[in-house]
Amino acid sequence: MGLMRVPYTSPLPLPTIIPRNANTLTGAVAALYNFFTAPPSHQLKSRGKDGDKTVLLTGAGISVASGLADYRGTNGTYTLNKTYRPIYFHEFTNDHEARKRYWARSFLGWTNLERARPNRAHHAVGMLGERGWVSKVITQNVDSFHPLTHPSVPTIELHGYLRSLICLTCRSEYPRSQFQTELSRLNPTWAEFLAEMLASGALTTENPEERKKKGLKTNPDGDVDIPNAPYSTFRYPACPVCLQNSPVGVNGNSIRVDIDLDGAWATTSTGGILKPAVVMFGENIPTLVKTAAESAVDESSRILVVGSSLATYSAWRLVKRATENGMPVGIVNLGGVRGEETFFANVPPANTGRFAVRCSEKADLVLETLVKLLERGK
Ligand SMILES: [Zn+2]
Repeated sequence: MGLMRVPYTSPLPLPTIIPRNANTLTGAVAALYNFFTAPPSHQLKSRGKDGDKTVLLTGAGISVASGLADYRGTNGTYTLNKTYRPIYFHEFTNDHEARKRYWARSFLGWTNLERARPNRAHHAVGMLGERGWVSKVITQNVDSFHPLTHPSVPTIELHGYLRSLICLTCRSEYPRSQFQTELSRLNPTWAEFLAEMLASGALTTENPEERKKKGLKTNPDGDVDIPNAPYSTFRYPACPVCLQNSPVGVNGNSIRVDIDLDGAWATTSTGGILKPAVVMFGENIPTLVKTAAESAVDESSRILVVGSSLATYSAWRLVKRATENGMPVGIVNLGGVRGEETFFANVPPANTGRFAVRCSEKADLVLETLVKLLERGK
C-alpha cells in the first residue's frame, strides 16, 4: 500500500517532560545519556542482528538554525505565512500554470537554500554516528544537510531532496543548480528581479518581518511569494534526456516533448516534465525509501526524534512502529509532537531516561553537550 505525504495542521498540546528533571538542558542531556548507554530493552520484539543500535529521525527543527523556514512554530501553526498552502503532486503533474507559479517562486527561493549551510546540530549528529552511538539517520528534510555533513553515516531521505530534479517520464535526475541557470536564461526579467532582490538584501535577511516589508513572503522548501506577480509569463526547461531520445510510453506509444525556440517546455508536449526530487504533498513515498526506513527502525534497539513534530503521518508511523517493536523512544523537540502520549503510555515511574526521554530544548545545544558527555563516559 502506498504511503502519501500529507500536511497535518491541528494545533498540538505542549509536551509532558520525561523524566521530570529533563526540563533543563543539563537534565535533558543527563536523561539522554542514560537513554544511549542503557542495555537494549528486554522488551524488544526483534533484536537488532548486529547488537545495539540507535536510529535518529530528524525534521525541520534541526535546520532552523541554518536559516531555513520551519513548517510550524511551538504552537503548532505555520510560522511565517499562515495562508501558505504547499503545491500538491496532482497540481504539479497536471497543470502547466501551477508549475509556472511553482518554479517562479522556487527560482527566487532557491538562492536562500543554496546559501544555507548545515549547523552545529548536523555536525553533532555526524560525531554521534562516527563514534558509533547512532547507526542511521532518517530525515524528513529535503535540504541534503545530513548526507552533506556526515557522508559516512547513512541517511534515508524520507521526503526526497531538493538538490536534484527528476523527470516524470524517463526518471533521470538533473542537478537543481544547473536547472537554476536554465531558469535564469529562460526568464531574463525574473532574473533581473532576483538580482535586485539580492542586492536590496531582501533575500539575505533571515528576519521574516524585514522580508515582508520588502514585499516577499518566505515559506518552507524554498518557496517565496510575491503578491500579484506575473507567474504566467514564467518558463521552465524540458528534460534534456527526453529531448535527445524520444521516450516511449508504457503502452508503446511515443511521447512528445516539444520546446519553444529558446528551449522552454511547450504545452504540445505529452511528457518530459522535470519535478523536484522531493515527495510533494499528496504524493506517495517511493516503496524502496519506505521499506528502507522501516528496516532502519526494525534493526535498531531505540529511536531518537530530533526537531520534528511528527506532523506528517509517514514520520509519525515510524515512531509508532518503534513502540510496537518495544523500543525506547526519545524526543528532542521545541513544542508539541503529534499524538506523543501514545509513545509514552507505558513508561515505568522509575525511568531516568533508559525507557523514554521527552525534552523541549534546542537540538544543537542538547546534541553537542551529549557528545561531550558520551565521550567522557559521564
Ligand atoms: Zn526525461
